[in-house]
Amino acid sequence: MDIKRLIRKALEAQKKAYVPYSNFHVGAALITEDGEVFTGCNIEISSYSPTLCAERTAIFKAVSEGHKKIKAIAIVGDANFTYPCGVCRQVIREFGKDAIIIIANSEDEYREYKLDELLPHSFGPEDLEDGNTRGGENV
Ligand SMILES: [Zn+2]
Repeated sequence: MDIKRLIRKALEAQKKAYVPYSNFHVGAALITEDGEVFTGCNIEISSYSPTLCAERTAIFKAVSEGHKKIKAIAIVGDANFTYPCGVCRQVIREFGKDAIIIIANSEDEYREYKLDELLPHSFGPEDLEDGNTRGGENV
């Protein structure tokens, strides 16, 4: 996997951010297990709650095209090393439990994490599988 290429794609996506309210631009680019690349930017809506982060834009584009396994995702933003919000960490968990998360300022300045470092002791699809539940005895 070419990390610099993924960061370049995230930087390109960042330019498309629709952020008239915060003026905080974020871009994301992910690569799936089968090698497809999807990008996303953050999109703000005037009533705020429909706003969508760049990471989820990219992930939902991938999933809606039939790609459910994220190998890596690169994120760039206007802050010095922009990390994904908690909601996006959970969405990454759903489709990329073992994904590499690349937090970048530029092609040459980036940090790599495993999801488990950013979302330790996470809850995921496996927790709902048969045989892994306690049948509601604690409810
Ligand atoms: Zn987010």
